[in-house]
Parts: sequence; structure tokens; C-alpha cells
Amino acid sequence: MGWQQRITEACQQRRAAGLWRERHQVSQRGASQIAIDGKSYLNFSSNDYLGLSQHPQLLTAWQQGIARYGAGAGASTHVTGYHHVQAEFEQQLADWLGYPRALLFISGFAANQALVAALMASGDRILADRLMHASLLEAAAQSPASLRRFAHNQPPALARLLASPCSGETLVVSEGIFSMDGDCAPLADLQHLTRQHQGWLLVDDAHGIGVSGEGGRGSCWQQQVQPDLLVVTFGKAFGVSGAAVLCSEALAQYLLQFCRHLIYSTAMPPAQICALQAALLLVQQGDEYRQRLQHNIRYFRQRALTLPGSLMDSDSAIQPWVVGDDDRALALAAALRQRGCWVGAIRPPTVPAGSARLRITLSAAHDERQIDSLLEALSDAAGG
Ligand SMILES: *Cc1c(COP(=O)(O)O)cnc(C)c1O
Repeated sequence: MGWQQRITEACQQRRAAGLWRERHQVSQRGASQIAIDGKSYLNFSSNDYLGLSQHPQLLTAWQQGIARYGAGAGASTHVTGYHHVQAEFEQQLADWLGYPRALLFISGFAANQALVAALMASGDRILADRLMHASLLEAAAQSPASLRRFAHNQPPALARLLASPCSGETLVVSEGIFSMDGDCAPLADLQHLTRQHQGWLLVDDAHGIGVSGEGGRGSCWQQQVQPDLLVVTFGKAFGVSGAAVLCSEALAQYLLQFCRHLIYSTAMPPAQICALQAALLLVQQGDEYRQRLQHNIRYFRQRALTLPGSLMDSDSAIQPWVVGDDDRALALAAALRQRGCWVGAIRPPTVPAGSARLRITLSAAHDERQIDSLLEALSDAAGG
């Protein structure tokens, strides 16, 4: 059919299915406000849960890092990109989360892809929660291992899959707090079942780290489980970007030999790691931010429950408002924008068909007045 025809038709199909995705140019972003296409909005769509992306200590640390170490790492870690600040930060993360080792990755997406590619072989199986993040599911679909998905947050469904025979190794994967539903995984049950079958458990805690658990150590710490592989990311509550994998000494040694993402990709700039070190300190000392966020969540839910529409059962910063129909989700998001609030409309395939939603995210940076504005806008938009 030819390249041009192939890509044109694929785009036409996307549009026809109502799944076309638009990007919007952001001209300015503060902790709770955002300017898009020249207009200012209250931002209820970011994952900057603690408001750290704008914190002066973090910005200063990044600037000082640049002054000291320059802009880029210059090479992959296996060549000459493994800087002493990286070694130091990896150790700080490992100590903080109670693991022997931590390995830094450029992003959470890269970390999930890298782990699956490095670990899984033919005959192995990946058993994933149905709502697991695309980065892991895609990697799993491309790997020689088989992929089975279990009903969301249903340990008995996992148990049934585990009970069927497998000649190879088993990797069970779940998120800590689910990115589109905002609910927590039953991690203790998942870990118990996985261990019974000599499998390994991978938990991606992109939305839990920094926010839940004592000192912001995340969902696993909160539920007193220690998965064999813990993925944490720094683009959300940490306010920067990047990710780390926490694991045993033996697994770290293996990954350093077999993760192509670590070997053939330029290392994270040391200056960015300086910013991450500042973010870690702010997270560790961040009880006040977490309390403010918890207050905002309670404040929002108490008032939102009286509104028409169906708010999902979530006590995290992610408060999904399910509307079902794709077009209605888009129309509601547009109506909210007209009323000065920026909220993301999430449609399939990001979420299951028929469960299009507004993904409202709260931050410690919001105040009650701003949440009142959102509630008013929601009430108007849903009623209109
Ligand atoms: C955001 C996210 C990722 C991707 O992390 P990045 O660092 O943004 O690439 C991975 N897993 C989950 C669950 C996420 O929400």
C-alpha cells in the first residue's frame, strides 16, 4: 500500500473513531496554575502532587548542579557517564527505601521496558493487573514471555492464573496506586501469592512514591511489602523526571550487564540528579505537603460526592470522574476549560472502553478557594 497511504489511513481511522489526541502548547506553569494557548487556568491535571516542580530549593540545586558539572552526562554510564553524584543518589534511594541497590533510569517508561526486556525469556510468563501501565504491557506484549492479565485488584484472579502450570519463571506486575483509577493495589496479597509460586513481584509505584507511606516512601512501605523489583519515578511527586529500580545486589549486577537501556543510552545529567537529591530531601521532610494534599483530597471528596456524576472510590490525589461516553468526557473537559479549570479527559485505549473519564488530580499546591472553583465548574458543567 505504500508508506504515505499507510500512515494517512491510520490517522483517518483514529479521527473517525473519535480517538484523536491533541497537544496544547503550555506557555507557563506554576504549582497550581497553567497558561495554555495564551489563557490562564487552574491546573487539575498534573501529577505534581506535592507542588515540588516549582520549589526554589529544587530549582537552585539544579542550577548549582549545572554550574558545577555542566549540562549533560556526556556518555552512557558504562562509558564515562557514571558520575559520583549518581552513585551517591542511588545509595541514598536504596537506604531510604530499604533495598540493597537502586539503579537510575531516564524515565519510568524506559525502566519498565528495560526490566521486561532484560529479564523475560521464552517459556516465562508475565501476570499483570488488567489496568497496568502501557509501558509495561507493551514491553510484555513484545517479549518472548507470555502475557496474561488478571482482573483489576483481584488476588483470587491472580491465584487462578498462578495455579496453571508454567515451565519457566513468573513475573507478577502491578501498580502501587493506579494511574487512571487512583486506587491502591492489595500488595500484601499479591506478594504472598507470588512467593507461594516462587515468582517475582514487580510494583510500579509511580503515583505512590513521595505521597503515601511514612515519610513518602510509597505504597509498598505503607503496606509493609518489599517487592523483588520496585519501580519509582521522579516525574510526578518528585517534580522532575527520571526513575529508579530498587532491587537486590544480585539483580542489580544482572541488570547492569543485560539492560540495554542502561548500556546504550546517555546517562542522566548530573545536574538533574542534584535536583533529584534536593527533591528527595523535600519529600523526606514533606509531611506538611502530604498533610495539605490529604486535606485537599478530603475537602474535594466531601463536596464532590453531592454532585451529579460518578466519582470513583479513590482516596488518592487521583480523583476520576467517570462519564462513560468518550464525547461526553471531551465535552465536559471543554466546559470546564470555559470555566477556567484544566482537567484531562481520558479515553480508551488509555482506559477500558465505556469508561471515559475526567482525571482530576489534586496537589498540595491547591488551596480551598481553587478547589471551590473546580467544584462550581463541575456542578455547572455537569448540570448544563
Ligand atoms: C507515569 C507512569 C510511568 C512512566 O513514567 P515516566 O517517568 O513518565 O516515563 C510508568 N508507570 C506508571 C504507572 C506511570 O503512571
